[in-house]
Amino acid sequence: MKAAAFAYARATSVVNALELLAAHGDRAKVLSGGQSLMPTMNLRLISPDIVVDIGGLRELRGIAVKGDVLVIGALTRHADLLNSPEVAAHAPLLRDAVTHVAHPAIRNRGTIGGSLAHADPASELPACIVALDATIVVRGSGGERRIAATEFFKGIYETALSSQELLVAVEIPVAAEGSTFFFQEYARRHGDYAIVGLAAHAVVRDGMFADLRLGFFAVGDRPLLASAARTLVDVAITSAALAEAAVTLASELDPQEDQQASSAMRRHLAKVLLVRCVATLLSRPELATG
Ligand code: FAD
Repeated sequence: MKAAAFAYARATSVVNALELLAAHGDRAKVLSGGQSLMPTMNLRLISPDIVVDIGGLRELRGIAVKGDVLVIGALTRHADLLNSPEVAAHAPLLRDAVTHVAHPAIRNRGTIGGSLAHADPASELPACIVALDATIVVRGSGGERRIAATEFFKGIYETALSSQELLVAVEIPVAAEGSTFFFQEYARRHGDYAIVGLAAHAVVRDGMFADLRLGFFAVGDRPLLASAARTLVDVAITSAALAEAAVTLASELDPQEDQQASSAMRRHLAKVLLVRCVATLLSRPELATG
């Protein structure tokens, strides 16, 4: 199938992009890498009157450390995240996750801003930025807004962005001393959307979690920052403590049933990931098998 007819405008600056969006209201769509927008238009799931192409705005691309924050421009491509020494040093969770996003051709075009704005609940990067306690920077005609990652995702393909705003950057606190990360997903084939996945960030001191953030994906209508993690902080991790966390996790999950897996299967896999994650972060394989 091909998209319905639409007008095309190539923005020359962020201000110009915002003017174009304001002029067309809900009938305009932002185009970054096009890896989700164009298939959606080709399937005629959406038919915008105009596509505002921001792909040429170099000011929205790049990765830099500013003070204790890693700033990633919205147009930074998945392939850039994979190859960035700053990401490897300060937020390696993103690098680990990106290897699971689709395939090289898509990673060469798709952007972090597009992935977050698209807000597919089975996507890797939204769960990562929730686990990393990131802030999303958004710009509209009234100025800039900063939104905590946990407040950004509102439902399936729904975010706190209005149709008149651009996602311009993501800010991630640089990893604290003792930080350790875990990323794993179950998918039918490498590069497919996950059946269930987990992106986690922990600070480990003296064999215990001083902090633990568990970002599950494909377990509900948005990435889940599991409060089950709280039961594991500042306590000795035993099989009993893990079992208690698994019970809390079960009460937070709201997985869909689809062609890939039943809801019960997703619940089971989320629990398996929780146990593996904790065992890996603490380097205690006996927990995963106990
Ligand atoms: P676009 O397609 O340009 O835009 C996506 C949406 O976000 C549109 O609604 C657009 O209007 C909006 N948008 C884009 N940028 C902005 C911005 N800066 N401000 C406001 N709104 C914006 N994704 C995964 O996460 N995991 C996968 O495993 C995966 N596999 C895929 C496999 C295939 C075969 C394909 C075609 C896609 C796959 N995707 C996957 C989806 C895709 O890779 C991501 O959603 C994509 O990278 C989005 O980035 P983009 O720059 O291409 O966004």
